Amino acid sequence: AAKEAGKNNYQFFSAQVRSYALERMALETNLRQALERNEFTVYYQAKRDLASGAISGVEALLRWQNPELGTISPAQFIPIAEETGMIVPIGKWVLRTACRQNMAWLREGLPPVCMAVNLSVRQFTDDHLLLDIAAILEETGMDPRLLELEITEGLVMRDPAKAVTLLAAIKKMGVRLAIDDFGTGYSSLAQLKNFPIDTLKVDRSFIREVATNASDKAITEAIIAMGKTLCMTVIAEGVETEEQEDFLRQNSCDQMQGYYFSKAVLPEEFATLLRTHHAIPLPEDSSSTQFP
Ligand code: C2E
Ligand code: MG
Ligand code: MG
Ligand code: MG
Repeated sequence: AAKEAGKNNYQFFSAQVRSYALERMALETNLRQALERNEFTVYYQAKRDLASGAISGVEALLRWQNPELGTISPAQFIPIAEETGMIVPIGKWVLRTACRQNMAWLREGLPPVCMAVNLSVRQFTDDHLLLDIAAILEETGMDPRLLELEITEGLVMRDPAKAVTLLAAIKKMGVRLAIDDFGTGYSSLAQLKNFPIDTLKVDRSFIREVATNASDKAITEAIIAMGKTLCMTVIAEGVETEEQEDFLRQNSCDQMQGYYFSKAVLPEEFATLLRTHHAIPLPEDSSSTQFP
């Protein structure tokens, strides 16, 4: 009987491994065709200015809907897209789609909002990155000052010397830079000051219990203070409750993003949101329009 059970165990285990491998294969195979089959959609999540309550920006977030596999979350398919290199054409498509959308909103008469697009490590090491960004800005007519690229600490720390050069070149184009999921990586603060970063996005893991947990409070306060000292915009991600938002406002965090205000939505829904929560102008613009 023991032998039988052992055998069953083994069969169960190998069946699990096999089904996992098959699932991964199915994902990879389908992912290869997803772009040409038009299975991707970009959703847009608002960023809110905490002092005024106005929408200050928006982040493009990729969604994949496959007829066979259903809806697959970015947490599942982005890592595969990175490993296989498929993230390079996919990321380029997201950037182009987001820039086009931004222009479409402007044509509809909506106020300008800063459009954030996530950039993966693999895209960052691609030789064509700078040319691709320049070509997409040119082709869409997008104002580079309205574009912000979100990168992670890992990307910067892998090869700091190369990162400084590349980030400086992106900044020179007029594009803004944000560090996403800040506080979870291993960037040294000494190094951070060498990077031309405009925005720090406090990772969701610190925000989850920021209203109740003393360490999360302290960490978030410290990041806000550091961001201010370095003249960066600080935004908290994953804000789900009024208590979290209140804490952040009281502690002079600049912006928030999270389900409490809005999840990522389709372009039409974001346009409606933007109409009701007037966007605030860019810092450069406000100085010239308010003090003519
Ligand atoms: P991220 O850039 O840090 O984006 C934030 C993620 O948190 C999004 O998940 C968003 O929907 C989710 N989120 C926002 N507010 C809340 C909240 O209040 N509570 C909770 N629990 N979650 C919230 P999503 O869209 O599933 O994306 C996951 C990650 O996948 C992103 O993390 C980003 O790293 C990556 N990703 C998404 N789209 C792209 C893309 O176009 N290119 C690249 N390279 N990566 C992408
Ligand atoms: Mg992001
Ligand atoms: Mg993030
Ligand atoms: Mg994240």
